[in-house]
Amino acid sequence: MSIQSISNHPARGMLEIVLDSGASRTLTHATLREGCRCADCTALRRAGTPLQADGAIRLLAVEPVGAYGVQLVFSDRHDRGIYPWIYLEQLSDRAASGPPLP
Ligand SMILES: [Zn+2]
Repeated sequence: MSIQSISNHPARGMLEIVLDSGASRTLTHATLREGCRCADCTALRRAGTPLQADGAIRLLAVEPVGAYGVQLVFSDRHDRGIYPWIYLEQLSDRAASGPPLP
């Protein structure tokens, strides 16, 4: 499982990913922020009070983490989330079909 390319579109608040299959998916920056899996954000979700990302939130930087995924830096200064490729793909599927995050 891997991703061919990632392009950030700050003006639109979207991240575009291209899968190995050549299929392209988009994720909003707010979806990515709400999907953060760092210890703090996971604890909030487990407590039933998940972070609600403002639509104005922006992804500022995408840092590679080995061959495994990316670390995302957001405009609220949150930069602790690591997003494995498979998780980005899962998030894009979930965003398309609508059910809440686990
Ligand atoms: Zn987090």
